[in-house]
Amino acid sequence: MSLRLSVDGDRWRTHLRHVADTTPGLTPVLKGNGYGFGLHRLARKAGWLGVDTVAVGTYPELAEVAPRYDGDLLVLTPWRPFGPALEVDPTLARRVIHTVSRVEDIAPLLERDPQARIVLELVTSMRRHGLTRRDLEAAAEEVRRHEGVELEGVAIHLPLGHGSHLSEVRRLMTHVVAAELPTRTLWVSHLTASELERLRASYSDFEVRPRIGTSLWLGDRGALRVTASVLDVHAVDRGDVFGYRGRSMPKPGHLVVVSGGTAHGIGLEAPTGDLSIKARAATLARGGLDAVGFVRSPFSLDGKQRLFAEPPHMQASMLFLPQGARVPAVGDDVDVRVRFTATTFDAVTID
Ligand SMILES: *Cc1c(COP(=O)(O)O)cnc(C)c1O
Repeated sequence: MSLRLSVDGDRWRTHLRHVADTTPGLTPVLKGNGYGFGLHRLARKAGWLGVDTVAVGTYPELAEVAPRYDGDLLVLTPWRPFGPALEVDPTLARRVIHTVSRVEDIAPLLERDPQARIVLELVTSMRRHGLTRRDLEAAAEEVRRHEGVELEGVAIHLPLGHGSHLSEVRRLMTHVVAAELPTRTLWVSHLTASELERLRASYSDFEVRPRIGTSLWLGDRGALRVTASVLDVHAVDRGDVFGYRGRSMPKPGHLVVVSGGTAHGIGLEAPTGDLSIKARAATLARGGLDAVGFVRSPFSLDGKQRLFAEPPHMQASMLFLPQGARVPAVGDDVDVRVRFTATTFDAVTID
């Protein structure tokens, strides 16, 4: 019994093609659970789109993507002198582009592969990984010292949305220009189309390469439908005992058992990515808990989001349906609102 992702193939492909056609230098990001679709599917789709490079999240992901896509493979997780970065299949060496975020990693990386292809990542207001202005100058020195190395650009990974990123990018670009690096490629993340356009206009001697995942693969939600199945329905009276915790029903209605549980990623976190305080308050007010202590679930019946009768189980969930609501039949589909990047589907169909 399953949690399914059904994709309207024509509509999805039209969206992907539109993004590719309107985003010069597009570098699709394929990482994690493949945004719900699976890395193998996205790898083939990237080939179909005809892009010359894709970005994977981690070194181990190369194994799933590389056999299904012919172009270059940028690894977003910075290289480190330990772990899976040291286990890259040697036959991929010429296709892989390493992200370097510390000066001290350059020498050991080039010792292992003197012709390594690298991108230098700058630290941004994210403060996750990256070189400072001073590091960048030291890195430029290192690059000049090593003849074989192929510098494939600099990278700027910005935090998600909220106001313009352009002043930060401009500030970082002055460091890039000052470092006189032998590259004219700029990899950026999380810039809007209009920010990209303005960046290109300001730095017309640079090739700007946007790394995009969410708004590419998940940009047309109308092409995607997530469904579970009704597995069982039980009429219950007030006082009836149910569930793992032997709780008694606070009011009469139906228990509806649906497919989909914690193993799929159901209920592990709020099904919305919007974490502003206002949005969280609204979620609570809208029924984080109802009057008798049931928690809102991501499952909808008849267009209405239903309450969990108890926290989701590993592969199924128990919902409470109040008296008066239409009672579904076993086998009916149930719509589910999920975070695609945190969901494991049992089946993905594209038609
Ligand atoms: C995940 C990631 C992206 C893509 O992010 P989306 O929000 O899915 O477009 C871009 N750049 C870096 C460095 C990332 O880790």
